[in-house]
Amino acid sequence: MAVSRRDFLKVSGATTGGAVVGSLAGLGFDLKPVQAAATSLRIKNAKAVPGVCPYCAVGCAQLIYVADNKIIDIEGDPDCPHTEGALCPKGSSTFQLSINETRITKPLYRAPGSDKWEEKPLDWMMDRIARLVKKTRDATFVEQEKEITVNRCEGVAFMGSSVLDNEENYLIAKLGRALGIVYLENSARICHSATVPALGVTFGRGAMTTNLIDVEKADVIMPTSNWAECHPVSYKWVMKAKERGAKIIHVDPRYTRTSATADIWAPIRSGTNIVFFGGLINYAIQRKKYFHDYVVAFTNASFLIDPNFKTPTDLGGLFTGYKPEKRDYDKASWRYQLDADGNVKRDPTLQDPSCVFQLLKRHYGRYTPEMVERVCGLPKAKFLRVADIYCSASGPNKTGTISYALQLNQSSNGVQQIRSLCMLQLVLGNIGRPGGGVVALRGHSNVQGATDMGTLYHMLPGYPGMPLRDAHPTFKDFIDKETPKTGYWTTKTAHIISQLKAWFGDAATKENNWAYDYIPKRASADDYSHQHMLVAMVKGKVKGFICVGQNPAVDSPNAGMGRLGFAKLDWMVVQDLFETETAAFWREKGPHAKDKVVDPKAIKTEVFLLPGAPAAEKDGSITNTMRLIQWHSKAVEPPGDARSDAAFFYDLGLRLKKLYAVSKAKKDRPILDLVWDYKHDPKDRKIEPKMELVLKEVNGYATRDILDKEGKVVFKKGQHLPGFAAIKDDGSTACGNWIYSGVYPEEGKNLAARRDKATTPGDYMNHNWGFAWPANRRILYNRASADASGKPWSEKKKLIWWDAGQKKWVGGDVPDFKADLAPDAPKLKEGPFRGLSGMDAFIMRPDGKGALFGPLNDGPFPEHYEPFEAPHTISSRR
Ligand code: SF4
Repeated sequence: MAVSRRDFLKVSGATTGGAVVGSLAGLGFDLKPVQAAATSLRIKNAKAVPGVCPYCAVGCAQLIYVADNKIIDIEGDPDCPHTEGALCPKGSSTFQLSINETRITKPLYRAPGSDKWEEKPLDWMMDRIARLVKKTRDATFVEQEKEITVNRCEGVAFMGSSVLDNEENYLIAKLGRALGIVYLENSARICHSATVPALGVTFGRGAMTTNLIDVEKADVIMPTSNWAECHPVSYKWVMKAKERGAKIIHVDPRYTRTSATADIWAPIRSGTNIVFFGGLINYAIQRKKYFHDYVVAFTNASFLIDPNFKTPTDLGGLFTGYKPEKRDYDKASWRYQLDADGNVKRDPTLQDPSCVFQLLKRHYGRYTPEMVERVCGLPKAKFLRVADIYCSASGPNKTGTISYALQLNQSSNGVQQIRSLCMLQLVLGNIGRPGGGVVALRGHSNVQGATDMGTLYHMLPGYPGMPLRDAHPTFKDFIDKETPKTGYWTTKTAHIISQLKAWFGDAATKENNWAYDYIPKRASADDYSHQHMLVAMVKGKVKGFICVGQNPAVDSPNAGMGRLGFAKLDWMVVQDLFETETAAFWREKGPHAKDKVVDPKAIKTEVFLLPGAPAAEKDGSITNTMRLIQWHSKAVEPPGDARSDAAFFYDLGLRLKKLYAVSKAKKDRPILDLVWDYKHDPKDRKIEPKMELVLKEVNGYATRDILDKEGKVVFKKGQHLPGFAAIKDDGSTACGNWIYSGVYPEEGKNLAARRDKATTPGDYMNHNWGFAWPANRRILYNRASADASGKPWSEKKKLIWWDAGQKKWVGGDVPDFKADLAPDAPKLKEGPFRGLSGMDAFIMRPDGKGALFGPLNDGPFPEHYEPFEAPHTISSRR
């Protein structure tokens, strides 16, 4: 009989003693050896609590075994579909985050000029911190600029973290914006910052397009990072694909264990990926290896561009419209040709010299194998072998996957490097299809979630941009300028209004533009990112800094500058598990400093170090690299005064509300009106908020009874929203982050906490495990898995298809499309999908097509320029 290890554990874990014997006997086991083994099992009688590995963004589900409020073991959860119970050495040692004698458990205070920490009561620390936040905010707050309400506080900076939970990042974003904070960042800025614009411009969303399990279905896989070692458990899907006969091409300057598993190791010079991928695009076009029907149906290849537009092939390295004095482009010629009705002109034959396809062909015509050899350092013969194999992953029967991580991100041309591989995937027809996709391998456990939750200076949760003073002085400007006229982003207004309702409740009304002026307006588009934040500290502009779960004294570029900045601060708060280099910057300089001697007396920064709690000691959710939201539960109480980062910010918010309670000033209304009640247990001195209430707010709920046309109640006041389709623009719904809507559709039904094994035949991505945003879709843009008529491109690569009988899209995934929009449907004139037809698979883009032509600031097609940081360009500058 087949009994899985999980079944065995369930039976033996759920029962003890004689009951175990009875249950296992029922399964047909010879019980004597089992009884003998059970007496020696460490986890005997222990409670298993669901956990998620907090290290990397594979998000391996764990079982945390607890006895007597102590973690005694942590194992991989054998039911977890994308890990199959595995943990790598890091995940297996997660208990060391909790059980570790170097952990801090008491609040530590360093007075200005002092050379030592002092233990202080938590309440004293929090009282002092809240007063300092208020003092600094009040002293640096800018209410009006150019007669525009900007409500901006530039004196305080927050650094959230991509190792914090979604709910924690959400609270940081919410409290931070209510205070007017614009210097608000997390570590995603210095890892996958280039990902969002590259994927967003090309496909419509800045997230990984596919699912790790689906990698097994690829015919060719091209990792460009050390996937085998950096995201080890997920590499099993690459190896399973290989066992099935898939080829692996590892493109990386370094020979690593990933190279050792590959059929071809193709080392290229760092920073030259645009030439490499451009060379592959050229090869696919010249050798007619591109997926013609897919390209015509689902990309903007057939769209006609203004006849005045020229590529660097014609203009000596630059696109049309370059303005040397501004080192910028006038993009007047970078636009589609429109007919008299305002529709984009197209040439489905792809022959018109002004169509995107011909321009693409001309642009990359220079990216020959010889150029690849000259620029990338990859011998021509090897490149041709790579090109032949990778470009074979195209057409109805074959697909290929490309993955990337920081080799492509951390470069001054990172956005265009990533975009070039996205474009290659479109040319080969590899997006939205099984075994295809772009695998954006995030590093920290919650890079995706922290980004989704808006702890980045330039955006709000769910990806609306943060308002700009000059562009968006009024709510109308913000909505009119930032809401596209077509595509699913036309729903943005409803999302923004519902977010403001979630934040400011009854104080957000139609009359006051939903409290739009409560959130700060940036003075410029890019002055507040990670590096600018550190510079602002050095210049004395930022005076107070709250840093949780991040260590910029060692993990930042220009970390030395950061340390200089910390020394200029009036105060700094760090919450972490250990004493970090950031918290202790006043005691020692960085490893590269010439003069290591520090005189603490000269450093006047008042420092607060608070003990934090790791994932095993708190409830919350983490979103892994494939957009899968998984809930973890508190297994044990944090020791001493340690508590979650959510508790710190919740506590801080409550104290600030009290401090501002007597204020009549307009600038303080955002704090006083902030909805900030997550119902902590009054007996809980650590003030841990109820994290499921935070998730409910993120998911969305009705702010009043919502009636249908007949007057029947559809949603009762306070009822959870079933998904983002229910979000309204009339104030009747509140939703903290629209893309997560549906994760908690009913009271008691937290889908992030769902851990069910696959029960539906063919559900290879297991939709009953956790919840993948948006709407539990596992492969984005999956309309493109079927041809123009709605049939799967092939039996082998089918995913969803049009069922004419049922008049809806059906298959093995939740359609990332209007479920009842027929393949031959013309463009819709109204509704959330307005402007999209039954062929427009890229629903978040205004034109519904994958963007081969995508106007980023430095060009609509990626063009190789030597990265700013390339060694020989540095030496030539010298
Ligand atoms: Fe943790 Fe990543 Fe290792 Fe999985 S692969 S156990 S998530 S570090």
